[in-house]
Amino acid sequence: MTTRTVTCEPQNFRRVLSSMCTEPHPLARQAASRFLATNPGDPTTYRTVSKLESEVVERLGEVTGQSDVEGYIASGGTEANIQAVRAARDFHDVNDPNVVVPEHAHFSFHKAADVLDVELRTVPLTERLVADVDAVAAATDRDTVLVAGVAGSTEYGRVDPIPKLADLAAAVDAFTHVDAAWGGFYLPFTEYDWNFADAAVDTLTIDPHKLGQAAVPAGGFLTQSRKIMDTLAVETPYLESTSQATLTGTRSGAGVASAVAVLRELWPDGYREQFETSMSDAEWLADALSNRGFDVVEPTLPLVAASVSERLFERLRKRGWRLSRTANGELRIVCMPHVTRELLESFVETIDELR
Ligand code: PLP
Repeated sequence: MTTRTVTCEPQNFRRVLSSMCTEPHPLARQAASRFLATNPGDPTTYRTVSKLESEVVERLGEVTGQSDVEGYIASGGTEANIQAVRAARDFHDVNDPNVVVPEHAHFSFHKAADVLDVELRTVPLTERLVADVDAVAAATDRDTVLVAGVAGSTEYGRVDPIPKLADLAAAVDAFTHVDAAWGGFYLPFTEYDWNFADAAVDTLTIDPHKLGQAAVPAGGFLTQSRKIMDTLAVETPYLESTSQATLTGTRSGAGVASAVAVLRELWPDGYREQFETSMSDAEWLADALSNRGFDVVEPTLPLVAASVSERLFERLRKRGWRLSRTANGELRIVCMPHVTRELLESFVETIDELR
């Protein structure tokens, strides 16, 4: 018998400890469903969603500490990072462009380098798992068009020394890009005291569909420079609008609307509360694992990594826990909003049973 409607549960977050995404906030979900048939890729025709997109960009500017920002809601962090590399390549008049990133940069930079035909120079991290500034300095030269730092690394949640990276980029007349796709919504509540304005950052990725609790797809590409948006823009003859700076053409209005809804609701107090809860849960988990003899990488944002045996890792997965590992083989637990203390306690109980 053919089933004509999709009746199964789309996603159960109960045991998901590996994802950088989370259950959308109820208001985000509601807004997304109302804007399914809208396309911010053609803002002159789809005016309402286009206005909402301007609001999200302005609000993301507030989150990142800058009142005068431009940008758009992308399909995700991958697209925003590709656009940062594209803008840097096209803005600078260099024959053989290179981009310098720390080793923990997201794999989207490898895609960017590949499709845009730029050389990607990856440099090592320090023992504290952040970009090694001396190594970045040694890797930059006159052909460097972009130096990127990560603010909330995918594997360990670490934040690179962004102001220092920005100085190095400025010294070779390159752009500075910050990939805050995951960490961006929590940085305002941490000790990291840089922001978009005073660290001279040219472009920034911050994804509402991660810690912002919006619906997928809602990535964020921000810049403080109209010239950068102009560099990205192409003419769009068959649309009512005349130019487009985005990488994709037709885009999801659902992602945009959901991002507005959740930002109106949660910025700043709701995000601060969530950060405090998740951070304290991450610290609890780090202690619980450490007390059981596992080597734990101390969390600086709500993400815990710990060395566990291959056997235990596989047995946990067989019990239904959705888990992933770092390149070094550690188990990583991302304390997203759906990852409650209760869920973590039940995870630790499973570990106790299996050991
Ligand atoms: N940048 C960082 C730091 C990430 O953690 C991720 C994904 O987890 C990305 C970029 C890519 O984002 P997306 O999967 O939304 O394209």
